[in-house]
Amino acid sequence: MSIEAISWLDDLRKLVGAGKVSVDSESRAARAHDFWLLDFQRRLHGQAPTLPACVVKAEKDSDVEAVLKFAQARGIAVVPFGAGSGVVGGVRPGAGAIVLDLSAMKRLVEINEIALTATVQAGMLGKDFECALNCAGYSMGHFPQSMNLSSVGGWVATRASGQFSSKYGSIEDMLVCLTGYLADGTRLATRNVPRSSTGPSVNELVLGSEGTLAVVTDVTYKIHPLPEKQTSIAYQFADFAVGLEAVRKIMRAGIKPALVRLYDAVETKRHFADVAQRGTCVLLLLSEGLARLADLEIFECAKICKQAGAVDLGPGPVHHWLEKRFQIPNLSELAESKGVVFDTIEVAANWDRIHNVYNDAIAGLNKIPGIVNASAHSSHSYAQGTCLYFTFAVKKPKWWTRQAMCLLGVEGLFSAGDDLPYIEQVYNGCWKAVSEAALKNQGTISHHHGVGKVRLPWIERELGSSYAVLAAVKRALDPSGILNPGTFFKGEETR
Ligand SMILES: Cc1cc2nc3c(=O)[nH]c(=O)nc-3n(C[C@H](O)[C@H](O)[C@H](O)COP(=O)(O)OP(=O)(O)OC[C@H]3O[C@@H](n4cnc5c(N)ncnc54)[C@H](O)[C@@H]3O)c2cc1C
Repeated sequence: MSIEAISWLDDLRKLVGAGKVSVDSESRAARAHDFWLLDFQRRLHGQAPTLPACVVKAEKDSDVEAVLKFAQARGIAVVPFGAGSGVVGGVRPGAGAIVLDLSAMKRLVEINEIALTATVQAGMLGKDFECALNCAGYSMGHFPQSMNLSSVGGWVATRASGQFSSKYGSIEDMLVCLTGYLADGTRLATRNVPRSSTGPSVNELVLGSEGTLAVVTDVTYKIHPLPEKQTSIAYQFADFAVGLEAVRKIMRAGIKPALVRLYDAVETKRHFADVAQRGTCVLLLLSEGLARLADLEIFECAKICKQAGAVDLGPGPVHHWLEKRFQIPNLSELAESKGVVFDTIEVAANWDRIHNVYNDAIAGLNKIPGIVNASAHSSHSYAQGTCLYFTFAVKKPKWWTRQAMCLLGVEGLFSAGDDLPYIEQVYNGCWKAVSEAALKNQGTISHHHGVGKVRLPWIERELGSSYAVLAAVKRALDPSGILNPGTFFKGEETR
């Protein structure tokens, strides 16, 4: 659709102020996607993304309210945009959509040192929020790898989880209350109390709703005094199963180290080849808080690891990880120069099923022609189970022809031809292998990245009757389906 053909743009400019409405291609292209790696490959191979009709940069709550009321009256789609670091295609507007950019709403509203809460506008970047807290002597304890790229409101919308979740919890454990707007512009505000039994939680409804039920404008999170001490240690295990068993025992004992991260043999070789023996698996442990408690936690973890025959590698591997933990791999380098199709997929299951999830997913990935990496680490653990974070990488084999595929008996899986159809099929094949492994073993297809577009094929199977409940809530709160259509809820087209 050409911009000139959009009749409502002038009215929108009058409503919120012309300066907040961008229609230039550069602004629209910058807000037309997130970090979803399939979209990245499409752009790399010359497929331009659909640009939204415009981007509105909200500066205050009343801008969000006005845009929603305006869009609701005209049936225009609205796609909330935090910082664009989502990895599942949650931000992928259609040609007629308004992208509602919240990045200018980034004020720290209050740090309440008595109640240990901090209130912040939704668009502030995670690193800026944590930095402001640190200056006042506090931390939120939420450290996603995308700390420098993601917004504090996006964390709620995607139900995020950080690297220190075993001590501080994931975002649902940290959120105290929020303010936002429903599709028709109605203000939504939940209450700032430590807990309440007055009915189901509206916070829970908004958590993970990926911009489809409400636009979040500010959030109040729990905060913690800065830790007195950090203590860390790494162990080398004979194999992944033995390491997972030690992690299970640590969590079962009620010990709460902030970091509990176990790499399989492939990832151990990639990250710790200089300290760990080939074929072994490295576990990273870090405790923080009151000095004596942090030391005691590591002491108790060490006992469990030693009983499992693990080798003490000292704190070095943890320090090495801490230095690199917010680094982002150079995607263009990997995709362009090395011609690799890659992504990460995080799933979770209970301890009695997790080994099967791992084995089935790795076996499924290894069947994909051209696979050059199929690996995982356990990144977030609980007394009940753990999250497995898989990484796959596929490189088009040199022998790639339709005849070769026929000989291998995999003709139906991929079509030969241009790179992009090959990439799409190989990419979707990897997602299918891991998601099916999770579902087959009663796990969840997503631990912390959400659904977006990429997980739509499995969403009904995962949620069962809950999906119908959520779809009914969506129909009730957004009957015209203007909020982020095509994300999370099936059967809606982006528009
Ligand atoms: C290198 C890398 C590492 C990552 N590591 C982690 C990690 O460790 N843990 C983790 O949980 N995630 C991680 N992610 C994923 C991503 O950072 C999170 O999903 C993050 O929470 C998204 O925040 P955002 O502000 O960038 O959201 P966006 O990408 O802008 O949006 C994501 C979704 O939320 C909606 N949305 C955004 N803001 C709002 C709002 N204010 N109101 C309503 N809806 C909104 C959007 O419409 C979209 O559907 C990583 C991503 C990358 C690229």
